[in-house]
Amino acid sequence: MAERSFAREVQSLRLGDGEVFRGEGILAVTKALLQSGVAYVGGYQGAPISHLVDVLVDAQDLLDELGVHLETCTNEAAAAALLGASINYPIRGCVTWKSIVGTNVAADALSNLASPGVLGGALIVVGEDYGEGASIIQERAHAYALKSSVWLMDPRPSLPTIVDCVEKAFQLSEASSTPVMMELRIRACHVTGEFTARNNVAPPISRNHLLAEPAPHNYDRISHPPSTYLQEKLKFDVRLPAAHRFILEHALNELLPGERSDLGIIVQGGLTNVLVRGLERIGLGDLAGKPAVPALVLNVTHPLVPDQIVEFCAGKRAVLIVEEGSPDYIEQQVAAILRRRDVQTRLYGKDVLPMAGEYTAEVVTEGLLTFFAQTANDIDLSRPRQALEAARAHRARAQKILGPLPLRPPGFCVGCPERPVFGAIKLLEREVGKVHISSDIGCHSFATLAPFHLGNSILGYGMSLAAAGAVAPVMQRRTISVMGDGGFWHNGLLSGVSSALFNRGDRVLIVMQNGYTSATGAQYLPSSSGNRRDASSTSDIAATLKAMGVGWLRTIRTYSVGEMLKTLQEAMTTRFDGLKVIIADGECQLARQRRIRPQIAAALKRGERVVRTRYGVDDEICTGDHSCIRLSGCPSLTVKPSPDPLRTDPVAHVNNGCVGCGLCGEVAEAAVLCPSFYRAEIIQNATAWDRWLWRLRRTVIGWFQARPAAPASEPALHPAE
Ligand code: SF4
Ligand code: SF4
Repeated sequence: MAERSFAREVQSLRLGDGEVFRGEGILAVTKALLQSGVAYVGGYQGAPISHLVDVLVDAQDLLDELGVHLETCTNEAAAAALLGASINYPIRGCVTWKSIVGTNVAADALSNLASPGVLGGALIVVGEDYGEGASIIQERAHAYALKSSVWLMDPRPSLPTIVDCVEKAFQLSEASSTPVMMELRIRACHVTGEFTARNNVAPPISRNHLLAEPAPHNYDRISHPPSTYLQEKLKFDVRLPAAHRFILEHALNELLPGERSDLGIIVQGGLTNVLVRGLERIGLGDLAGKPAVPALVLNVTHPLVPDQIVEFCAGKRAVLIVEEGSPDYIEQQVAAILRRRDVQTRLYGKDVLPMAGEYTAEVVTEGLLTFFAQTANDIDLSRPRQALEAARAHRARAQKILGPLPLRPPGFCVGCPERPVFGAIKLLEREVGKVHISSDIGCHSFATLAPFHLGNSILGYGMSLAAAGAVAPVMQRRTISVMGDGGFWHNGLLSGVSSALFNRGDRVLIVMQNGYTSATGAQYLPSSSGNRRDASSTSDIAATLKAMGVGWLRTIRTYSVGEMLKTLQEAMTTRFDGLKVIIADGECQLARQRRIRPQIAAALKRGERVVRTRYGVDDEICTGDHSCIRLSGCPSLTVKPSPDPLRTDPVAHVNNGCVGCGLCGEVAEAAVLCPSFYRAEIIQNATAWDRWLWRLRRTVIGWFQARPAAPASEPALHPAE
């Protein structure tokens, strides 16, 4: 189960020589892997690279034909370790994850991979989730490439370039015995375009062509002293020069010629489109990518090739480095290279562009204007400057007219099974007081936002229990850690549960068991009821916790707010001294709706009786105090004007998006709210019995509602009268 079907994309993966592939950048990478003779692929999901593995999961038949092994890893460390296959064997492999967080998790295996180096090409595709719209901390994967001596590619966001870079990445890796990391920004992953495909290549060593013997024992290939001392020397004495040669000989970096030979721009490949746009806006280039000023496009951002940098900069008065994010690794390296070779070209970069934040077209245009204003008096920048200022003034006017736009923070889906748990925690806090909540990565982190505002820290995926380790001992009240089942299997089981048990931690842990890694596109987990191969789950969270020695364990259906509240009260007050775990059980509503919608449609088509549950608010009873909204936050639970002219406050209203999860009824009861909520059943393909029952009910209700009707001529009462 993944958030979307890739049936069409799977067909594209079968395209052969000369056929045209059309689609997104990340799917082009997938095709390029198969064209490169990759023998194994693995990864851990996360935006913006989830689709790389998701589409291969759907392409199992093709992988079987080619003999390609696919490993859906339980975390990024496992994915990085998978590349260990390329240390001893000449087989090509690719793994993928979201960076920076995934690279952090993978760091140990990455170091141990980079030190001995590889025989077969090893490629790591990282989704560089940086800038506006990113969902994680803002750091650069570049740091890992530098510290571990892993080469870093940052291809220009165009499908032919991306595909070419994937194929060259394997060759570079083999030519220099070094793993290659390829960073793809959000926009590069989702850029659409086309390229001319080539036939897929079945790897010579694969699941279809097995090795008869393991590699001979070679201590030099083990990252263990004293081999590591030699390996470090090899990195810089042999592998680095080999990489320099390969980058130059295969023209991995691109030179865009321009007439102004006294100036130049060095740009990260991934930012080329933004640079092209900025130059076009100020009249120094066209949208086809022909700049008036020469540009060196770094499709490889580590290592830089000193000869190439010197050749590009020598003889120029000034060069601008367009490098997104901080620290300015490239700028510092270019400065060092030029200084060592005594090249006097003046460098610009973070002095005219911002130190941090996404380099949008506006940001880069502003930086270019500043750079050219300081370096080229002969270029008339007055018109582009005026155009930029006019656009900004226009935007400011629009903002003034519209007023401040409401924020649109992310939130739980309609009917999410995790929302009721936070409603219960809110109710708990009414009784026991404020509780320290240690939050985690996943949909449940939305509880840190309105209307719940529950959560004091997020320390990483599956780290919430560990993050409460030093808080719990200094708190009068027990702490609550919240973790998803994704986080539990990713890291929480060992870093959190095992450690808390080992240290006799007196803490409360809630594991949200919704069945999928929902936030990344509903991929299967070890405890999902089914995985990509068959319908059975491989692991059970409750059984695992019991086996580890958890002595206080409850499994509660999330929508049972009253029961959840009682269980939380017990967990917070019991004399049991140790870890208390509540498994909050409820299938991800988004996944559930995707699962049952086709089933319902098929049943309706067959003429079968289908019952849907909906909730509603009786607007004659609702007082408009909105307590229910503060305890729910469901987008379907909204407000509308009161029908009662004597009441000015809007009343609560359940709109058509309601999926009938039942929280509204549960929370109204558990919180002892007003009795405005009602539950309705919508019956399609009603039977004769349903119709008879409906007529009976309508008649009886009609009797109760019967009252003398006002004469038609009598005017209705109005408060103003
Ligand atoms: S994807 Fe699933 S778990 Fe996440 S907010 Fe939506 S319903 Fe809840
Ligand atoms: S019952 Fe309430 S919480 Fe559940 S989907 Fe409907 S409006 Fe949302």
